[in-house]
Amino acid sequence: MEYTLQTLEEVGDDPVDLANWMLNEEFLETLQNCRHCNGEVHLERYNEIADGVSWRCARQDCRRHTSVRGNSFFANSNLSIRVQMKLIISFAADSTAQSTARLMAISRQSVVNYFIACRRNYQAAILTEPIDFNAGGEYESDECLIADVNVGNNIRTDIWVQSVAERATGQIYLTRVPDRSAVSLIPTITALVPQGSFIFTDDWAAYNSLRHHGYIHRTVNHSQGEYQREERILGERHSIHNNTCEGVNSLVSRRLGYRSRRTLHYLDLILSEIIYRKSGRSLFDPFK
Ligand SMILES: [Zn+2]
Repeated sequence: MEYTLQTLEEVGDDPVDLANWMLNEEFLETLQNCRHCNGEVHLERYNEIADGVSWRCARQDCRRHTSVRGNSFFANSNLSIRVQMKLIISFAADSTAQSTARLMAISRQSVVNYFIACRRNYQAAILTEPIDFNAGGEYESDECLIADVNVGNNIRTDIWVQSVAERATGQIYLTRVPDRSAVSLIPTITALVPQGSFIFTDDWAAYNSLRHHGYIHRTVNHSQGEYQREERILGERHSIHNNTCEGVNSLVSRRLGYRSRRTLHYLDLILSEIIYRKSGRSLFDPFK
């Protein structure tokens, strides 16, 4: 299920309606019983807190309130569940922190921090359930250099990132590699890409051994100004290029445009975020 700001407008302004909707969509967990007396609880308006709603114990001698956020992603922030829901929707839509901050009239730094928390959830989702390529057919690989990355203790160095694209599904895999040698680039491909597949790269020599690993390898000669060509291989037309990877590389570079954010930690978050966004999975599941 995917959501937009329009979805929230349709739910309406009542905090109880919002909480019910979030329970239905599994962003929040149902509290079975009062934590203090084990009595029955229900959702009730509660204006003392930002959410405007809480679980309320029905027993007259208790009547305690419990947050609706228990065990959820929403427990990690002080912002109201409505504001957080809007931030998650903006993040999923890939809105910038600046435009989101303006739209919601909250500080840009709050949005930046919240979006980082969102990225961590995408990263966790990718670590828990890594993407895998099994469509077969056409693949691409490329690599790009992220310059001047803070790798700790203010030591800055350049980092190579390899990208592999599965054309049939649009999935992308991204990983840091030590350098552009065959020893660094080939194992990423052999671990991911099914044998017998087509793989298209530029004419960087490190890829030359791919045909010895059970792949049908073709290159575009970037060094001679060629970026795409059509070729018949085994009777079928193929578009030989690695433009998908090049597009992803420029996305990675743009995301790491600010020197102050160019740390190994942030680089890994961005790589995971892009992998997740291209994985075809729900952009909202990691928040449920
Ligand atoms: Zn109670």
